[in-house]
Amino acid sequence: MPFVHDLPLVHGRFPTTTDIVSLSDLPVWQPNSYRRILILAPHPDDETLAAGGVIAAAQSLPQPPQIRVIVATNGDGSRSTAVTQKRSPFSTETFRQMAVQRQQESLNALAELGVPAADVAFWGFPDGGLEPIWQRHWRSAAPYRSPTTGWEAAQQAVNSPVLPYTAVGLLQTLQDTLHRFQPDVIIMPHPLDAHPDHRALAHFTAWAAAQNRGNLDGFAPDLLAYPMWLQGTPWPKSVRLDRADERLPARFAVHEDTWVRHPLRQSLRGQKVAALNRYQTQIPTLGRLLHSSGQATQEIFHRRHNVTVPRFSASLPLPPDGRWKSLPFTMGWQRARLAYHTRPIMFTFAADRYNLWLGVQLPDQPPAGHTYSFVIRTANGRSLTERQLPAHTITMRTPYGTMGLARFPLTGGTGQALSLALKISLGDHLPLAQSAWLHLTIPGETT
Ligand SMILES: [Zn+2]
Repeated sequence: MPFVHDLPLVHGRFPTTTDIVSLSDLPVWQPNSYRRILILAPHPDDETLAAGGVIAAAQSLPQPPQIRVIVATNGDGSRSTAVTQKRSPFSTETFRQMAVQRQQESLNALAELGVPAADVAFWGFPDGGLEPIWQRHWRSAAPYRSPTTGWEAAQQAVNSPVLPYTAVGLLQTLQDTLHRFQPDVIIMPHPLDAHPDHRALAHFTAWAAAQNRGNLDGFAPDLLAYPMWLQGTPWPKSVRLDRADERLPARFAVHEDTWVRHPLRQSLRGQKVAALNRYQTQIPTLGRLLHSSGQATQEIFHRRHNVTVPRFSASLPLPPDGRWKSLPFTMGWQRARLAYHTRPIMFTFAADRYNLWLGVQLPDQPPAGHTYSFVIRTANGRSLTERQLPAHTITMRTPYGTMGLARFPLTGGTGQALSLALKISLGDHLPLAQSAWLHLTIPGETT
C-alpha cells in the first residue's frame, strides 16, 4: 500500500549519512515570537522530556504565549512500570489505576512549569496502540482494544471527548484542537523515532497539519519534531546534549538549517529537573533518561517544512505529475450536524491547465442515500456559471476509507478564478450540509 509508505515522507526527504551536522552548528530557536504553542506528547512524560525547557522559557517571557499540552496516551501499557509499582497480579484495573496516576504526574510536572491543569488534555488513547490504530483501525466498526486496560474507547480521557480507539476518532480530536487553538507552533514527536507510538502520533499530526495548511487560507503552524528514542536508546543518551561538539546520529541528521536547538540556561534546567522529578512511577525504569534529560544544556528539534498531501495511486485518471494540495474545507464541517461516519475527513485538489480534480476522503463507504457533490461557480464576463458534480463519480478504496473524486474540465486555463463548495444531500434534493465557499485561482502547476 504505497499510500501508507508515502506518509513518513510527508515532510520531505529521508536523511542521508552524508548530512551529519554537529549540535553547535544548529541555529538557536526561541519561543519568543509565538503566541500559541501546542505540545503533543505520546506518553505522560514526553511533554517535559522534550520541551520542559521550552515551557519554562515561554512562561518567563514578559508576555508569555498560551501553551496547550496534549498527552495522547495514558502510559497505561507499561508492564515494567506496573512491576516496579508492585502491582502484581496484573488486571485491567492495575493499568487503569496506573493511567490515573500517570496523568496526575504530568499535571504535577506541568504545574511546576506553570501550566495549569485546564490547559492539559489527556486523549486517553492506548499506550502501545497508536501505530496499530494508524495502520489497521481506521473505522469505528473495528476499534483497537487495549490488551492492558481492556478499553476500546478513551474512557479515561480528560478535557477531551470519549472516542473509540480508531484513527478517524484520533484525527477528529486533533483537527478539533488545531481548529480551536490555532497554534502557531506545534511541538510533536519525530516521524523517524524508534518508538511506534511516537512515529504514529507524528504521522497523525502531519496529516492533520497538511489538511489545515493547504496553499489557500489555511493557517500554517511551524512544526518542531523532537526525537526521543533511537533504536531503543533514549535520545539524550545517544547524543550528549550537554556537549556542543556532539553530532546528530545519521538516522536523524539532515543538512540545511532544518534542525534547531533551544539552549537551556541554568535556571531553566533547574525548573526542568524539578518537573522531571514529579514522574515518580518512571524513576525506577527511566531514571537515567530523566536524569540525562535534566542535565541537557539544550533541547533539539527538527523543523519541518513543506507539508504536502501525498499523491494517490498512479492508476487513477489523475494528473500524472500533479501533487495534491489540501483544501481547508474541513473547518466548515465541524459545525454541521452530520453523523460521525458521514463526515468528510479530508479534501484535496490538483489542477493543470485543462482540468481541476477534487477529492473528498470519507471514513467509510459513502452512506446509503447520501450524495457528496462539488459545486463550482465560475464567472465569465457578467455571467455566472454553476456546475455540480457528484464526488463519487470515481471512488477508490484507501486504507483510510473511501476517496471520492470528481474532475471538472477548465475552460479558463491557468489563472482562472472560481468558487467551490462541497454539498451533502440525502438523495438528490434534501440538503444536509454545505461547506463555506472557497475561492481558488488555478495555479500554473500544483507540484
Ligand atoms: Zn514516549
